[in-house]
Amino acid sequence: MEKTTGKVITCRAAVVWGPGEPFVMEQVQVDPPQKKEVRIKILFTSICHTDLSAWKGENEAQQAFPRILGHEAAGIVESIGEGVTDMKEGDHVIPIFNGECGDCKSCKHEKTNICNSFGVNPMKTVMNSDGKTRFSITAKDGGERKPVYHFLNTSTFSEYTVLESACVVKIDSEAPLKKMTLLSCGVSTGVGAAWNVADVQPGSTVAIFGLGAVGLAVAEGARARGASKIIGIDINPKKFTIGQTMGITDFINPTDLGKPLHERIREITEGGVDYSFECIGNPDVLREAFLSTHEGWGFTVILGIHTTPKMLPLHPMELFLGRGLTGSVFGGFKGKSQLPRFAKECMRGVVDLDEFITHELPFEKINDAFQLLVEGQSLRCVLHL
Ligand code: NAD
Ligand code: ZN
Repeated sequence: MEKTTGKVITCRAAVVWGPGEPFVMEQVQVDPPQKKEVRIKILFTSICHTDLSAWKGENEAQQAFPRILGHEAAGIVESIGEGVTDMKEGDHVIPIFNGECGDCKSCKHEKTNICNSFGVNPMKTVMNSDGKTRFSITAKDGGERKPVYHFLNTSTFSEYTVLESACVVKIDSEAPLKKMTLLSCGVSTGVGAAWNVADVQPGSTVAIFGLGAVGLAVAEGARARGASKIIGIDINPKKFTIGQTMGITDFINPTDLGKPLHERIREITEGGVDYSFECIGNPDVLREAFLSTHEGWGFTVILGIHTTPKMLPLHPMELFLGRGLTGSVFGGFKGKSQLPRFAKECMRGVVDLDEFITHELPFEKINDAFQLLVEGQSLRCVLHL
């Protein structure tokens, strides 16, 4: 095959031109990677609810079009820019939307995975070094090339994408790349929240609000840690069946309950669960999740992305009862330094990835894949590029 290093690549990408408009398969130009950047050939990408929220343009301040969305993927390094020393052409990699530069104050601090330079930033649309995009599209009338914006440091709905090397993790070449796609966001976010953030203990009780891939990854993480009761809450009864294979022991559908959810959960757990996880992005549900934990030590982790400007639905005095609350990005994992080991643990079967991929489609069927998530049919639909 002809070498593409240093050249502009023209390839297919699913471009979104306006909020909620169908994705259009376009020929885009992808520039070579610059200093400390990497160009990847994406082989698999899947759809997370965060893509769905960005596609709909739920948060107006974060809208930017035309844009290439997508952040959960796996691929192979096509070429590297100057100064990239930890990866080479042909390496198997996964993109991370929450990068790790390794040099900033936060990367050097053991208590956070938020990188000051390449941490998750939904407002970011261009590369850090020069404020420009690496994607462009030739106007239909043959006029000037128009920039196409980046998304979440990654933009994986494209056959080739350029990322800052801080947002690319090299993984074992033996790892099954299709399944490793899940580690790029959903599974790491959920399992990491149970392990790194809540530190779920053997024999403990857990309540998970929202049983998408993220919520069910929390369940899988809690199951692996030996939790004794894992209560799953969802308005979609279909999630109950699949949830059983990921460790959910009890189900509650809030729509046919007839009493506040937290009362029901406190009843069946003698005062409340040890840990609760909000995996939806709904302030009312967040309040229920908080009140479902046990007084004195209960701990709530927020994973859902809240796209409304609403503030926390809690009175300060409610915190005096000793319940704790925190939010978590990417399950607290420092991507570059900790994900390769997590990938190995998944390969050993500590976490079972098999049930998370519920659908697979060719890349050009991306609009159908979004519909599956909108309708609550899929956990993850993996697109083959
Ligand atoms: P998903 O759409 O697959 O799952 C959401 C689930 O919540 C669905 O099963 C839905 O039926 C359920 N639900 C919706 N409203 C409900 C309600 N009122 N009560 C009970 N259940 C309800 O989404 P996902 O991909 O699993 O993502 C979940 C959330 O996590 C999203 O907000 C996403 O943006 C966020 N997320 C956060 C991070 C992070 O780093 N913190 C990473 C990935 C995703
Ligand atoms: Zn995601």
